[in-house]
Amino acid sequence: MSRSAQHIGLTGGIGSGKTTFASLLQAQGAALIDSDQIAREVAAPGGAAIPAIRQAFGGAYIDSQGGLDRVRMRQLVYEHPEARTRLESIIHPLVNAGSQQQALAAEASGHKVIVFDVPLLVESRRWAQRLNAVIVLDCAPETQIRRVMARSGLERAAVEAIMKAQATREERRQSADIVIHNGDDCELRTLELLAQETAALFGL
Ligand code: ATP
Repeated sequence: MSRSAQHIGLTGGIGSGKTTFASLLQAQGAALIDSDQIAREVAAPGGAAIPAIRQAFGGAYIDSQGGLDRVRMRQLVYEHPEARTRLESIIHPLVNAGSQQQALAAEASGHKVIVFDVPLLVESRRWAQRLNAVIVLDCAPETQIRRVMARSGLERAAVEAIMKAQATREERRQSADIVIHNGDDCELRTLELLAQETAALFGL
């Protein structure tokens, strides 16, 4: 594959610090592509996924604004797990296409390093062969729980349930080319220095 920019995957469990580290890399000159944001956009009013969602699930799953009714959909996938697979089969190819499109635009505007923030990168293996390197944000599970509870107000059990559905810390570390330790002992200033060092590794 010949392309002018390096494509770097950035991942980590919930609350590991992906968003924070991605912003720091962006400040060093990397282009940032946020797959969660693209997923939200395609299911928002007027989004590219809406016609297919309407066709697959019916108008009852489209809210009054014309976007995906997330409350009803959450209920449906809770009761019928196969609905999640169906929804993902609509959303994922669009996120894929959107990511590629944004990457091309970033390359065209001269970016040499493109960072893809993909929370479930390790879980969805299709990413691996498209990336030059994978960065994993790592911290103790207790740190994840504390950060997410502080940020979202979720109960401990709810955070633990999300973590259980994600890859394990070990699985993630095994997929990493670079592990960034962002534990309790890592102050934001230290994380910033780690971002500078990481960016330098990729020529920024
Ligand atoms: P999610 O998977 O939920 O999107 P994330 O992996 O993107 O989470 P962040 O949003 O970057 O994680 O971080 C979670 C919270 O922890 C945020 O409130 C962030 O400010 C804080 N945080 C992350 N790293 C540090 C750090 N090194 N020092 C202090 N606070 C931190």
